Amino acid sequence: MLNLTGKNALVTGIANNRSIAWGIAQQLHKAGANLGITYLPDERGKMEKKVAELVEPLNPSLFLPCNVQDEDQIKSTFETIRDQWGKLDILIHCLAFASKDDLTGDFSQTSRSGFNTALEISTYSLVQLSGLAKPLMTEGGSIVTLTYLGGVRAIPNYNVMGIAKAGLEMSVRYLAAELGPQNIRVNAISAGPIRTLASSAVGGILDMIHHVEEVAPLRRTVTQLEVGNAAAFLCSDLSTGITGQILYVDAGYEIMGM
Ligand code: NAD
Repeated sequence: MLNLTGKNALVTGIANNRSIAWGIAQQLHKAGANLGITYLPDERGKMEKKVAELVEPLNPSLFLPCNVQDEDQIKSTFETIRDQWGKLDILIHCLAFASKDDLTGDFSQTSRSGFNTALEISTYSLVQLSGLAKPLMTEGGSIVTLTYLGGVRAIPNYNVMGIAKAGLEMSVRYLAAELGPQNIRVNAISAGPIRTLASSAVGGILDMIHHVEEVAPLRRTVTQLEVGNAAAFLCSDLSTGITGQILYVDAGYEIMGM
């Protein structure tokens, strides 16, 4: 049975009720995990209020600001986990960013700063957060990140985010190789296209979703909760033999030749 009772899980990347991280947090909670939630703070505190109201029914025991471009916030997040929880079992890395200008048009026109920002937030953050989680995962652990098919195939408009996801998927393998001896597993879920705040920045996302609905074996795309179920599986004792993998949760689209 999928049971996460007694497990401390840090979930990053909830912005609203469409976020994939929200689907994951709900399923981890359902399986009994104790949740810590981070959010991306803004100057007016609007995001804090919005996310706090959303996650309240899941009774998170930690609720912390964590902009992955802010060293102090990152450090403070993991110090709080150490002081209040003592150990960490699960890390959900479910965040990404690229400027809208870089998610449409010609890839060759990507700016230096746009390229660096996309890779810093979307790829390097997994490496850094995993490095900080490592000493806290004293009883082993599971790290799960979110990727997309655009990291292995050239998908229209995905552009620099495809490079970020390719780096992310390779980071999963290097992290899995390093952390395996400590019984920390690292996997990625490659989700099918879902309408969210982040995906709305990708040019033509609705066309992509309609295409998937036409050709994927299941003739639909996936939901946040389906991704959440797969994440709960990867965090549970049902998947103790799995690490370094990219699990496609995409209604089968990836196998198709069109
Ligand atoms: P979302 O907009 O709900 O989530 C993206 C999150 O990234 C937000 O919570 C945002 O606050 C956070 N974020 C951005 N910059 C940050 C920073 N500097 N510090 C901390 N957090 C930051 O969108 P989503 O679609 O749920 O995206 C979650 C993950 O799923 C991303 O990695 C995305 O690439 C991946 N993914 C999405 C789809 C899709 O179609 N929606 C498909 C496959 C993979």
